[in-house]
Amino acid sequence: MCTRRAEATRAATDADGAGAYDRRVTLPRTADAQQVLHRVFGYDTFRGNQQEIIEHVCGGGDALVLMPTGGGKSLCYQIPALVRDGVGVVVSPLIALMQDQVDALLALGVRAGFLNSTQGPDERRAVEAAFLSGELDLLYLAPERLRVESTLRLLERGRIALFAIDEAHCVAQWGHDFRPDYLALSQLHERWPDVPRIALTATATEATHAEIAGRLNLEGARHFVASFDRPNIQYRIAPKDEPRRQLLHLLRTEHPGDAGIVYCLSRNSVDKTAEFLVAQGLTALPYHAGLDAGTRAANQSRFLREDGVIMVATIAFGMGIDKPDVRFVAHLDLPKSVEGYYQETGRAGRDGLPSTAWLAYGLADVVQQRKMIDDSEGDLAHRRRLAQHLDAMLALCETVECRRVQLLNYFGQQGKPCGNCDTCLAPPESWDGTVAAQKVLSTVFRLDRERHQKFGAGQIVDILLGKRTAKVEQFDHHSLTVFGVGTELGEGEWRGVIRQLMAQGLLAVEGNYQTFVLTEASRGVLRGERQVMLRRDPKRQAQGRTRSARAPQVELPAAAAPVFERLRAWRGSAAKEQGVPAY
Ligand code: ADP
Ligand code: MG
Ligand code: ZN
Repeated sequence: MCTRRAEATRAATDADGAGAYDRRVTLPRTADAQQVLHRVFGYDTFRGNQQEIIEHVCGGGDALVLMPTGGGKSLCYQIPALVRDGVGVVVSPLIALMQDQVDALLALGVRAGFLNSTQGPDERRAVEAAFLSGELDLLYLAPERLRVESTLRLLERGRIALFAIDEAHCVAQWGHDFRPDYLALSQLHERWPDVPRIALTATATEATHAEIAGRLNLEGARHFVASFDRPNIQYRIAPKDEPRRQLLHLLRTEHPGDAGIVYCLSRNSVDKTAEFLVAQGLTALPYHAGLDAGTRAANQSRFLREDGVIMVATIAFGMGIDKPDVRFVAHLDLPKSVEGYYQETGRAGRDGLPSTAWLAYGLADVVQQRKMIDDSEGDLAHRRRLAQHLDAMLALCETVECRRVQLLNYFGQQGKPCGNCDTCLAPPESWDGTVAAQKVLSTVFRLDRERHQKFGAGQIVDILLGKRTAKVEQFDHHSLTVFGVGTELGEGEWRGVIRQLMAQGLLAVEGNYQTFVLTEASRGVLRGERQVMLRRDPKRQAQGRTRSARAPQVELPAAAAPVFERLRAWRGSAAKEQGVPAY
């Protein structure tokens, strides 16, 4: 089957653009789906529920298809478009990829064309003419085309086999890829009530399904939900230390010469990371919306065509990219939602071979993301949604269970511990961090109450460890009851505690300096009414093997004794009414 595809590719490379629409797939008019699969696409069997979906759509039914990235959604509309009379109209937001998609189809002998803003008038007219004369099997359209009355009239003059709405989650207003133009797609049903519609997405939560079905007028469509498991992807989430060095280590030890994607939050960090990797002798290219279109297209094309290129990118990169041998997807910053994370990591290992999804995650990520939510525009409901998405992502990061099970559960599916993710391979211990949590929270409380000061994570850790840094020296720390009460843990461990308190909503950030404040929930911890279970980060676990995993074992240094003397006295007054324990 590989040779067949290769021959087809050669044939198309020889054909010039103008003649491309004249070539016809030599299919009998009664071609069935199975024949098209073999003869056009060169594949032996359908994957997962492709066949069921294709038969349903060939029969004129509407469908909502939920299948993970790399699952094979394209065939679900391409084959019905070839089997049914007329042209399959595909709405896709991936303008930058349309040329590639169409070229790949032409290479297989499928008569495909596209209409989007990147075309000149001549090219557009050629495609329109091919559409009207029935010389097209598939027509790709950018969603904004459907807002233009002339496009709608053009479509009305041709014969349409089906409408495919790819990346259908773009219609979901709360999703991570919302495109306003998608909202106009609800009118397809009104104008073409008899044309079947198939909406496809890799985003899988119940809430998103419902939103997609509602907004696209697809309430009556049959839902096809594939398994979201990607067994060949190994999920790993590591505590962030020096992320670029950690990444380099991963690439050198596990992925030398492999193609992969490295996601960073900011354009600046994309540029820096790409420079860093290049300086280390790796082939890395940047991709973000701040680069001009030419550079973006050139970098994307090198990534797709050359072997072993590392694309360092913001999330602007990757949707619809069909490169089978992406061996790793690394995140240097925390994604905003599990949906986004799953789509991004899903770009690894489409060929089914072992691949790595690696994420570096630390305290600063949580602080930054919480702050971005606070600063975001939109009403309270919007911010609440964002916070829920982030909380789910944090729960995935902090879980002591199998990452895959956690992911599948998030998408409403069941799974067994996979034996292949980081938590399965080295189960993290959980420990009772109630006392540690109380120390952190009461430090925040005291600084605010007694000193009218708000500190960030660094200073809070310094105070707990009793370090006399410049910032701490600025005020009379000796009389601060919490000074030096946290020497039982190291700096990294305290940062881990603070990170997890944030993840659990027991600590919040505020203002431009990202200082900490208590939350409603933290009161329960301070009052001793609520237990706080924490995850021991793997690295620390290795260092501290001899330490008991469960008991917090707060062995206070002798020097801390006076603190407690003062505290006991203090406790009689303010602490009592506030319910603050003695740290
Ligand atoms: P999705 O849109 O769901 O992310 P694609 O449609 O791009 O996935 O397909 C991913 C890859 O799987 C492509 O390389 C495609 O050619 C391949 N593929 C799809 N269906 C089959 C099949 N039945 N047999 C073999 N390969 C397939
Ligand atoms: Mg796709
Ligand atoms: Zn697992």
